[in-house]
Amino acid sequence: MKFGGSTVGTTTALTQVISIILHEYERWDRLIVVASALEGVTDALIEAAHLAQLSNRRGYRRIVATIRTRHLALVEKLPLSKEERSDLETDIDQLLFDMLDVCQGLSHAPDINSGEKIDQIIGVGERLTTRIIAALLRENDVRGVAVDATDFIVTDNTYGNAKPLLPETCQKVNHYLLPMLDRQIVPVITGFIGATSDGKPTTLGRGGSDYTASILAICMDANEVWMWTDVDGLMSTDPREVDDAHVIPELSYSEVSEMAYFGARILHSRMVKPLRERNIPLWIKNVFKPQQPGTYVANHVNQNGTNRIKAATMIHGVGLYAEQSGPLIGITELVNQTLDEVIGTQADVMITAQSSNHTFMCFVIPTSAGPDALHQMQNALSSRLLGEFQAWQVKPVSILSVIGNGLDILPRLTARVLMALDDIQILALSQGPSHCSLSIVVAPEDADKALRRIHALTSVTPSDQVS
Ligand code: ASP
Ligand code: MG
Repeated sequence: MKFGGSTVGTTTALTQVISIILHEYERWDRLIVVASALEGVTDALIEAAHLAQLSNRRGYRRIVATIRTRHLALVEKLPLSKEERSDLETDIDQLLFDMLDVCQGLSHAPDINSGEKIDQIIGVGERLTTRIIAALLRENDVRGVAVDATDFIVTDNTYGNAKPLLPETCQKVNHYLLPMLDRQIVPVITGFIGATSDGKPTTLGRGGSDYTASILAICMDANEVWMWTDVDGLMSTDPREVDDAHVIPELSYSEVSEMAYFGARILHSRMVKPLRERNIPLWIKNVFKPQQPGTYVANHVNQNGTNRIKAATMIHGVGLYAEQSGPLIGITELVNQTLDEVIGTQADVMITAQSSNHTFMCFVIPTSAGPDALHQMQNALSSRLLGEFQAWQVKPVSILSVIGNGLDILPRLTARVLMALDDIQILALSQGPSHCSLSIVVAPEDADKALRRIHALTSVTPSDQVS
């Protein structure tokens, strides 16, 4: 069971977390807890590391002081015995004290081993949370033990976005955790962090605690993974865009992958594949409403002809048009090169369409590149499309994706989507090769309206959808 940052930040939330763990501990033979940092703490730590790199001593010390106060204030309000509380306070001080040392090292030598120093700094949040949860469990007569994943999640040395090395990791996971589980201990494990095989601290990328849970699950051949958060489950669309977004009761792993690929910010992008391959089901549930079912994700859903439109996503991207047709190698290279230079990342060319004398190509920029990336990219491309590529024009576009199993075998589902768009101009259309997605490119000014119309189809019952 993985508990996200929004579920561990207040006494009320932590009380819920503990009662959930106590309840599930009775139901399952073996239970492993993975915890994130308190909400906002990783952002603050990243800022601290940044200030340390700039040798802004006052800046990073101020941030660390704020983090310390926040954790101590939380601990003060928790129902803990005197000894647990004072041990916990000592642990918190020690962790932050050691971390300040690393900040200092970074500020003195910003260019020496900065990757590992930064990862050591930004991974402290998880180490603080796990100690708090473990203490609360012990207070409730469960043998909770805080465990740092640096002891067994072995990764490569891509600091900030490290990749776990599975065989080594699984061997160590079993070696460390099995004996604990055999002794009825509930390990409370730091999400997000790992270490190289020679012990240098690493992190798994933002939102990486999801990934930690998924790696542990496959190493230990778990029955299920439960992700606890503060929302009711995966939503049919972004609730900030459409008012009547609702929880999706169940989804296949393919559907979840498509949703994530086409812009829904749901789970850590690399966590899904291992679970899908090992056929381990996943639940997403709300800690504040544990009796609600949440969302269930597995390989074998959508049995008994329940194919339906389940979700609609929207992402913004850049479209390239040319009144010519022909090979796309040159232009694709230009796009990739520009992306690499402007925002230091790869783009996904999502949709390409050609006719006798027109070409359209559409790509998105990963949201991780930041809010300005799209705009920057558009400007950079416009100025580079001279000379050899002057036939090309850049325009902003929006890509709407409809997610639902059976979109390829039931053309009536597609027909419904197109009918719903009615008078909205479609710039390009692509049926995903995954059997469960359909993407439609529209002008940005039509996007909100189109999204609402498509999303309305998610509340149509399956029989209505196909009849
Ligand atoms: N605390 C880390 C982050 O904010 C990892 C996580 O929350 O999953 O990215
Ligand atoms: Mg997350």
